[in-house]
Amino acid sequence: MAPNDAVVVINAGSSSIKFSLFHGAALVPALKGKVENLYAGRTRFTAFDAAGRPAGERLWDGTPLDHEQAMAFLIDHAGEHLQGLHVRAVGHRIVHGGARYSGPQRLDGAVLEELAALTPLAPLHLPHNLAPVRAVLALAPQVPQVGCFDTAFHTAQPPLAQAFALPPAITERGIRRYGFHGLSYEYIASRVTDFAPHLAGGRVVAAHLGNGASMCAMRSGRSVASTMGFTAVDGLPMGTRCGALDPGVVLYLIDELGMDVAAVQRLLYQESGLLGVSGLSADMRTLEASDDPRARLAIDLLVYRIGRELGSLTAALGGLDALVFSGGIGENSVALRAAVCRDAAWLGLALDEEANAVAGASGISRISAPASKVEAWVVPANEELMIARHAAALVEEA
Ligand code: ADP
Repeated sequence: MAPNDAVVVINAGSSSIKFSLFHGAALVPALKGKVENLYAGRTRFTAFDAAGRPAGERLWDGTPLDHEQAMAFLIDHAGEHLQGLHVRAVGHRIVHGGARYSGPQRLDGAVLEELAALTPLAPLHLPHNLAPVRAVLALAPQVPQVGCFDTAFHTAQPPLAQAFALPPAITERGIRRYGFHGLSYEYIASRVTDFAPHLAGGRVVAAHLGNGASMCAMRSGRSVASTMGFTAVDGLPMGTRCGALDPGVVLYLIDELGMDVAAVQRLLYQESGLLGVSGLSADMRTLEASDDPRARLAIDLLVYRIGRELGSLTAALGGLDALVFSGGIGENSVALRAAVCRDAAWLGLALDEEANAVAGASGISRISAPASKVEAWVVPANEELMIARHAAALVEEA
């Protein structure tokens, strides 16, 4: 990557396209922003430079934009405003790479069709992830595109960790544990060697706690087990997702309560988790500020489930050297980190309350006491940089 070379990272969801721009060999962040309110309301574009200063804004009246129109706008906007920078690659965050994609992948029409065939595995995310790839192929076919999969990091897991206790005829249809948030865990693993070289060969459990939340056991920087499975609804309770649930509950909802697939899906993905339990909000800040006992219950349940999963992942690792917090809640909630660490005292984890009180999104920090047998760290998530690194490496290789 020459000093004027840039990589654009695209993270497309159902109603927004987030983008970030990195440049030069060090992949320095230069610009980030989003187009939001796709399909509904007034579509809005905002961009900020590396110092957080506004670097672009537009509001659309009338019909909201779709993914293709938003990408067409972004490509046009980039053409006008990125003079001097040469976009070497566009890296995309893609939720699912199936069993096949165990690393970043150059995207062309044929790969795109293969990925589209995986849609039943992630119907709520994959079509939105792929729409911008299709748009760039059509509007700027000369720009190399790279797909980075949230599942890829977990393909290293041993077969036992990926298995459900189901007959082979079902497993062969791709029904197994995949795991998600892999780009966040890969970034954390890459940073472990920088911030704590002694942990490089160690046993680490990382907790990515955002609106979506999961935990991952890593040995020597490779995924060994994770709380998310076939879909991103398994494991921890999340903002609006229920997390691990006895599958018998789903049968009961259908059989006894007469719910159809759409209603069950809505319940498990949009009406459960912190929102469902509290009846108040999916947002941790709102719950922490509330004195409603249901808000307390939602937080307590999250802390309890994190503790249970920590025990399980520690067993998969045969012991624990460090616990890492990441994601919006993991980086910002002093109280949640303290509660989780208190519950993990049985593992030999001793919290440094003062270090915990000042740790935050501004940087990596250790929050365990110097004599703690198990270390605890806060590592701000940076999936975008991980994608930029992959995209840059792949186009440089070519
Ligand atoms: P996403 O998974 O959508 O990327 P984030 O990683 O941004 O989400 O995490 C969002 C969560 O982080 C929300 O529950 C939000 O309340 C929580 N959060 C953000 N800032 C704080 C804070 N200062 N204290 C507690 N929770 C916070």
